[in-house]
Amino acid sequence: MLTYHSTPVIPIYDDTLAAADVTLHIKREDLNHPHISGNKWWKLKYNLEAAQQQGHNTVLTFGGAYSNHLYATAAAAHALGLKSIGVVRGEETTPLNPTLAFAQAMGMHMHYSSREEYRQKTEEGFLKTLQKQFGKFYTIPEGGTNALAIKGTREFATTFPVEPFDYICLAVGTGGTIAGIIQGAAYGEIIGFSALKGSFLTEDVTTLLNTDQPARPWHINDQYHMGGYAKKNDTLIAFIKSFQAKHNIPLDFVYTGKMIWGIYDLVQQGYFARGSRILAIHTGGLQGNG
Ligand SMILES: *Cc1c(COP(=O)(O)O)cnc(C)c1O
Repeated sequence: MLTYHSTPVIPIYDDTLAAADVTLHIKREDLNHPHISGNKWWKLKYNLEAAQQQGHNTVLTFGGAYSNHLYATAAAAHALGLKSIGVVRGEETTPLNPTLAFAQAMGMHMHYSSREEYRQKTEEGFLKTLQKQFGKFYTIPEGGTNALAIKGTREFATTFPVEPFDYICLAVGTGGTIAGIIQGAAYGEIIGFSALKGSFLTEDVTTLLNTDQPARPWHINDQYHMGGYAKKNDTLIAFIKSFQAKHNIPLDFVYTGKMIWGIYDLVQQGYFARGSRILAIHTGGLQGNG
């Protein structure tokens, strides 16, 4: 079992929220574990349990060079005494960036993969080649999203406050986390803020939803990616800095910074009715700030 620290829900007070008569609380899931932070803890929980139950001693997964998922998987495998292999998109560049340096220090073996090869990451042939090289392993997909990940994020939603909120907001990458929350939350409309450019996530999340489970109303807002995945600009960086200075809550620039920015923009536009209560989920990702 991975260690888990239970996480607080922090009320945010400021003029923008007060003027719109909206209440914002942030679930600080970034504090659940020093290295297996935020949603990644929940996405890995049942996958690593399955790997162990199936008698595997190695897990293999995929990610970009700054991936929160690779970082968390390396730490989680290390904590459970499992070996890990990271298939990294692109060439090796040295010195390693802090994400990969940490993963390697946790014992992760890095397998660098050309962009062409990496594109075959879900194909049987590529996995067979990797198996020839590394032996048997338990495969976790890129971003960590599969049915067992969603079982974990569904359980995560049961740790939310008992007192209801009207909206639950979170950042979305592959959709595994929001899919679990749509099915595990006891209240609220779920709003996902896409970290990627494009409108494909609505379809992706629909596909991920398990039809045997109840579902809350939900939608994806794709207006706050700020140019695309991991793109940043001075406005976003200034917003993250000022939010941290005012509220003492660090945000990352790939996911949670854009989500909170989006919430404030919607609040200022009057999107949320007066009296609305919003719960925003801090999904972690702070390692990526470098
Ligand atoms: C990975 C990640 C996400 C995206 O989660 P999905 O389940 O892929 O949608 C959101 N926030 C942070 C901080 C992440 O690291």
